[in-house]
Amino acid sequence: MVNSPETSSAPAASTRTAADEVNALLASYPDFPQDGILFRDLNPVFANAQAFKSIIDALVTRFSGTFDAVAGIEARGFLLAAAIGYAADAAVLAVRKGGKLPGTVLTEEYDLEYGSARLELEVGQLPAGSRVLIVDDVLATGGTIAATARLIERAGYVLTGVGVVLELAELDGRSRLGDADVHTIVSV
Ligand code: AMP
Repeated sequence: MVNSPETSSAPAASTRTAADEVNALLASYPDFPQDGILFRDLNPVFANAQAFKSIIDALVTRFSGTFDAVAGIEARGFLLAAAIGYAADAAVLAVRKGGKLPGTVLTEEYDLEYGSARLELEVGQLPAGSRVLIVDDVLATGGTIAATARLIERAGYVLTGVGVVLELAELDGRSRLGDADVHTIVSV
């Protein structure tokens, strides 16, 4: 089955904000990966050099000076975390899906908008008390980021922020993130 993207209207100006870039390039696929899910595809944003730079700059600026490390959630969060870490001179943590990390790992089980999953983090990557920013592409129900926040805190670090490109507001994922400093570039 082929899912046709519903793309937003074309961008108008050359001086667009990060939110403008996301709104212009975001693609939405009904009934993917299963019926009833409107899948939000940010790959067209990542695939546009100006848009990618714009969203990275926006997140680095918003959280400037508040973090020592940035934790990216597999897999699209890795793209964001690597770029933010480089731009902000910060360390990078890879929060991986279950069963992929060696050595001593912390594990958290959680529910997804569709299905359930397991996330893991290796222990001892950073000094205790390190300030960590979590980043991911989409905030849906919040289960993924809430599980990551638990991993960060169990590892002995301090969660200082959550940066997300796209928030699906009707799913109210923010309510699962306590008093975390959450910033999303676009909320739909
Ligand atoms: P959640 O735990 O429900 O907040 O889901 C967030 C994670 O699942 C993110 O890593 C997203 O990449 C992915 N995700 C959940 N729902 C969607 C959606 N409607 N479109 C695209 N990605 C989604």
